[in-house]
Amino acid sequence: MAIKIVCLPGDGIGPEVTQSTIAVLKAVGEKFRIEFDIAEYPIGGIAIEQSGTPLPDQTLAACKEADAVFLGAIGGPQWENPEASVRPEQGLLKLRSELGVFSNIRPLKVFPSLISSSPLKPERLAGVDFVVVRELTGGIYFGERTRQDDYATDECRYSVGEVERIARVACEMAMQRNKRVTSVDKANVLETSRLWREVVTRVVKNEFPEINLEHQLVDSCAMKLIQQPAHFDVILTENMFGDILSDEASVLSGSMGLLASASIGDGVGLFEPIHGSAPDIAGLGIANPYASILSAAMMLRWLNLELAAKAVEDAVLDAIDNGTLTRDLTISNSMREASTKEATQAVLEA
Ligand code: ATP
Ligand code: MG
Repeated sequence: MAIKIVCLPGDGIGPEVTQSTIAVLKAVGEKFRIEFDIAEYPIGGIAIEQSGTPLPDQTLAACKEADAVFLGAIGGPQWENPEASVRPEQGLLKLRSELGVFSNIRPLKVFPSLISSSPLKPERLAGVDFVVVRELTGGIYFGERTRQDDYATDECRYSVGEVERIARVACEMAMQRNKRVTSVDKANVLETSRLWREVVTRVVKNEFPEINLEHQLVDSCAMKLIQQPAHFDVILTENMFGDILSDEASVLSGSMGLLASASIGDGVGLFEPIHGSAPDIAGLGIANPYASILSAAMMLRWLNLELAAKAVEDAVLDAIDNGTLTRDLTISNSMREASTKEATQAVLEA
């Protein structure tokens, strides 16, 4: 039976990297005789233009019936008018919430052939290999918002149950790795963070006694990610802190254009690169497609297609090692910049 994949290309570079990813999925499907049924639906700004809403009912219904959902990126300056009542991001937030994908897994790898292009010294990057486990359907991104002429509010809210389930995801992952969890919060200031810390401590103590748990304040974690990135194994954190820290962490691997993510809950999984729609380079054909293709590899693994997942990851590694690098990864003006198409072709060939 065909595996049903819903693709949501979205806005900006979203359609460009999604197109690359679909080409890779088709190739890997042929190679491993897997039948994919790939259907595209609108989300975000493009959906607002077509139908006035960032998450049309048909899109949501198709996602709920799919085996997996792949998303490019959404948003852009043309929809950022503060007066607008509908915004592209609302579509993605609603999709995550409707699919119940409460855990966002963001692995951070350092690619050996790119170490020289990192702003960090090579010795700091030795042994860097960690995963950010970000809570995705709670916190300040989902609280009530109010706006008056002279003030605005954003509510941040977490329940015990929400913290428990994401803590378990991080602990289960750590058990497969080096059994170390760094829980990140701002417990010296925020009440939600104090709850977070209490609950995480209890889950580890009662259910995962073998895990070595530490707590870090988000500001000091932001510093340590640069100073001593090899320290981390699994970083467990709430929605907004996870968003910010994983963009920061992407610098370690060389570019936002390299980092993949999987959003998992009780049902269908949602897979997307961590980067946004990159409006500054949209339409130029120079976006790095590797993060998107690596997100598809995470999707294949989650679908229990391990051989196909590994083949895709190895092909991306090969393309990088062979020096097929898009503009975001080239360090000097004299280096040849690959286009999105050329990078995709390099993966397909590998
Ligand atoms: P979001 O709010 O959706 O997370 P963002 O504000 O973090 O978006 P991005 O759209 O991810 O911003 O872009 C941040 C910077 O990284 C931009 O300069 C963009 O061009 C660059 N960038 C992001 N993704 C890629 C990519 N795949 N290839 C090349 N450059 C990228
Ligand atoms: Mg971002």
